[in-house]
Amino acid sequence: MTTVGYVRAHDVDEAIALVTADPAAAYLAGGTTQLDLVLKDGVVEARRLVDIGRLPLSGTELVGDTLRIGALTSMADLAEDPVVAQRLPVVREALLQGASPQLRNMATIGGNLLQRTRCRYFRDRSVSTCNKRTPGSGCGAVHGPARMHAILGATEHCIALHASDLCVALVALDAILHLQGPGGQRTVPLTEFYLLPGDRPDIENVLEDGELITHVDVPLLPNDTRSGYLKVRDRASYEFALVSAAAALSVDNGVITSARLALGGVGTIPWRARESEDVLRAAPATVATFRTAAESAIHDVFTVPGTEFKVELARRTIVAILTSTAGVQS
Ligand code: SF4
Repeated sequence: MTTVGYVRAHDVDEAIALVTADPAAAYLAGGTTQLDLVLKDGVVEARRLVDIGRLPLSGTELVGDTLRIGALTSMADLAEDPVVAQRLPVVREALLQGASPQLRNMATIGGNLLQRTRCRYFRDRSVSTCNKRTPGSGCGAVHGPARMHAILGATEHCIALHASDLCVALVALDAILHLQGPGGQRTVPLTEFYLLPGDRPDIENVLEDGELITHVDVPLLPNDTRSGYLKVRDRASYEFALVSAAAALSVDNGVITSARLALGGVGTIPWRARESEDVLRAAPATVATFRTAAESAIHDVFTVPGTEFKVELARRTIVAILTSTAGVQS
């Protein structure tokens, strides 16, 4: 039997002090993934959970042209936020296509950003080979079978996917994270927060010991920008993406004046498709342009038997989301 201690933090400073002082402590927020990892699967060895669920870090606030989101805001509450609905519809679409209604009521935005991979080798302790769980043990997924795994940013050391839908939209929008830890406060662009696996897939992000995500800043989209999120999956609900794409486009007289594109379901981190954005800017909003953009997004892939199909699926997904977002006839 696993014995895990529990303590409720009363303010942010106390929470940080509790986790910083105890290497075996971890934060607990909505609990939708942390309880699985610690209590059910036993793949995260926390002997003490510090409950931050009642800290004053929920809700949203407009700061100029930026929406500041408290890290403890639930996915459901953020999806219902009127500013999100009007000015960040791609965020709302991504939220509502993630998890299930019950999970969205409990899961927090900070927890969503920090969710661990769904790679079944990682979550099954009877499997001995997983570099993310046991560094240096090898990667069971590379030698298969694999399907729900990454093709971009992957290496022979790890092909684990980052499974968040929300993060795909936030990466496309250049969200900024506010972090607080024993060394004080700092901000980090979400595009620089996650780390590629390289030969250390156990190190997933730039968080330092005891650091906490307190807020997420999301710049509002201009009023003339259209956006959308497309998620391709095996079933219509409560399923992770095979491929997903978040796009935001401004089009003036048939010419693309601004473009944002990010991909999910294919990368070891939420994947910003900057080469595609370069193709799209100042180009005519046509299916031919979108096909070129799709080709430029998917390169230097690392596939294993079972994931090759994602190359073509990703390209078709990109063409589809750009076509619908731009309002072009396919
Ligand atoms: Fe572990 Fe990554 Fe390999 Fe999955 S893909 S078994 S998480 S090393």
